[in-house]
Amino acid sequence: TTGTRTGYLDRHGVEHPFGDAEAERQVRSDDRAHVFHSWSAQAKIDPLPIAAGEGSTFWDYEGNAYLDFSSQLVNLNLGHQHPDLVAAIQQQAGRLATVQPSMANDVRGELARRIAEVAPGTLNKVFFTNGGADANEYAVRLARRVTGRRKVLSMYRSYHGGTSTAIALTGDPRRWANEPSDPSVAHFFGPYPYRSAFHSTSPEEETQRALEHLENVIVLEGAGTIAALIAETVVGTNGVLVPPPGYLAGVRELCDRYGIVYIADEVMVGFGRVGEWFAVDAFDVVPDLITFAKGVNSGYVPLGGVVISDAIAAQFDDVAFQGGLTYSGHPLACAAGVATFDVFDRDGILDRVRDLGSRVVEPELRSWLERHPSLGEVRGRGLFWALELVRDRETREPLVPFNAAGPDAAPMAEVAAACKAAGVWPFTHFNRVHVAPPLVIGEDELRRGLAAIDAALDVADRYAR
Ligand code: PLP
Repeated sequence: TTGTRTGYLDRHGVEHPFGDAEAERQVRSDDRAHVFHSWSAQAKIDPLPIAAGEGSTFWDYEGNAYLDFSSQLVNLNLGHQHPDLVAAIQQQAGRLATVQPSMANDVRGELARRIAEVAPGTLNKVFFTNGGADANEYAVRLARRVTGRRKVLSMYRSYHGGTSTAIALTGDPRRWANEPSDPSVAHFFGPYPYRSAFHSTSPEEETQRALEHLENVIVLEGAGTIAALIAETVVGTNGVLVPPPGYLAGVRELCDRYGIVYIADEVMVGFGRVGEWFAVDAFDVVPDLITFAKGVNSGYVPLGGVVISDAIAAQFDDVAFQGGLTYSGHPLACAAGVATFDVFDRDGILDRVRDLGSRVVEPELRSWLERHPSLGEVRGRGLFWALELVRDRETREPLVPFNAAGPDAAPMAEVAAACKAAGVWPFTHFNRVHVAPPLVIGEDELRRGLAAIDAALDVADRYAR
């Protein structure tokens, strides 16, 4: 299919028809020869050249349209080429393209104010970064400065970014090849009712046991050595793990009891993904620091940051904060962030996410449990869902082993290929398919994409007992 487009614009603004084999060949050969890719064996990947994007769809050079059900890397909350964001960046580039961070700037200040207005509690100041990993680096640094302690606790099954401390915080296989980096990190098990580390049989029991475990970790690591605890409010890449009732409130309480700074990593779930400005609002907790990136401006220009409580910010009233980045709060990025707030307000994006999530996505995905023997669990919130695929529903044996690669991962590769052949670009990780389309996706597009994933699960069913 070619969607509604017949071609794409080159970088000079000249329109070309799809199917220009020479243009595609050039993209592929430059990429192969000179782009060193993230998280990949360079010789084993074959990245798809992308020619155009609009709303929830992108096109390859042949004109195949894909519904972007992973919102790129779950950052494209307002879709490709949103006219308001593009215009805001163009206008800002025309009036003042860059201002260094120790000078004040209108869009940077306005964006910080609007973030503070929607942030919970007394989180009123924003330290801007270039993305999510460095936001987490700086959150940890703030916590270490104000507590005088060094250690940080984070969950297994978490992702906090690819830089030095952020990868050390990460509790998934991406950390392994990068060890040791920051040595003062200890990991603990968060709640995961479907595969409970605590053999619990209900979400309530999972909360209670996960909190007992966490307190044991705090005590045995030495409460007086722990600066911070960092947790994704809803665990993202590692499985869309929505915390069971009371868990995050319990984390807040433990952090208070032991003088630990609570950092909520909302890089993936902030700015609307689960139908809230910040996901902590869904769980009635107020952390000390919130990190954000991605959805703040849909990733049109790199931007991230740390929202800081008044109590922590005040510690730096008379003492310098030693840290900074040349592009902190870059005006082009902030202009796109301000435009994001305008679009959210005008178009009622948060209500839309809650509505589409509860009225369309949740009932549809849950109905598949009756039809697909490979579907072990459906979980999520807003426009952020995971389908956990299994070979056996009784034993919950995953469709592919943990961290599978090569032939072991073939069943999931086949599921992903079936989605792509049907024009849907999914996010797959280990034995899961995630559903995370742009928040602006049309209901018809959403239903069409879900139908394609539904059909692709037939492939997984063939492996199920
Ligand atoms: N934290 C979470 C929860 C993320 O999902 C990510 C990226 O996927 C990051 C941090 C790292 O953000 P970035 O890639 O912008 O550095």
